[in-house]
Amino acid sequence: MRIGLMGGTFDPVHLGHLVIAEEARHEFALDRVIWLPAGDPPHKHREVTFQEHRYAMVVLATASHASFDVSRLELERAGPSYAIDTILHFRRQHPEQELFFITGADAILEILTWRRHAEVVQECRFLAVTRPGYDLARLQTVLPESYLERIHLISAPGVDISSTALRERLRNGEPVRYLLPETVESYIRKHGLYTDEMEPGGTAVGDPR
Ligand code: NAP
Repeated sequence: MRIGLMGGTFDPVHLGHLVIAEEARHEFALDRVIWLPAGDPPHKHREVTFQEHRYAMVVLATASHASFDVSRLELERAGPSYAIDTILHFRRQHPEQELFFITGADAILEILTWRRHAEVVQECRFLAVTRPGYDLARLQTVLPESYLERIHLISAPGVDISSTALRERLRNGEPVRYLLPETVESYIRKHGLYTDEMEPGGTAVGDPR
């Protein structure tokens, strides 16, 4: 079994994330892709949207894909969502499976600041997602060779969407149709997310399970 761990804040999840997860699944013959919305991202300086909203949006976005699952692991673990804790959890559960951590190349660029990063890189391979026009040399100048050997690049052609740009569009009343799944857009509108009226951290809703 080859398992992809799709880590991210997903604030909000968008079509770029979905295309990337599907591309990774296909290119690396992954049996399953487990989406892991971060509970308390350790490196975020801005306030992120209430975790149950981010979780619900990922569930809505991935529901129709037979090989995609969503895990509450990082939401239910107290304290910062360190990747090492997540990776060791899956390693303990499935000792003989190959693990691939899928995330943005920009996030991986910072990997030397991650908690117990040498162990992280030893325990799983990384699928680093680049956006169109990404300068690969940045990774090569920052990371040692032993790390680069464990990192594979994936480019998702034509998908240049970011959560930051989407939040900005929503705040400005600009359209986001076709940039994220319709179900996710409806959820955002229903709860008034990413507008100036939103409570800090988002309006609380119950556990959507
Ligand atoms: P981020 O800093 O918000 O994201 C950096 C870039 O990567 C953004 O352009 C983002 O685009 C993109 N990105 C994020 N997740 C992606 C994914 N799964 N596939 C493709 N692109 C992705 O990063 P983040 O989302 O908060 O964190 C990424 C992962 O790294 C999480 O699982 C987090 O727990 C882990 N992490 C761990 C540590 C640690 O253990 N100390 C530290 C940092 C990050 P969008 O904004 O469009 O998503």
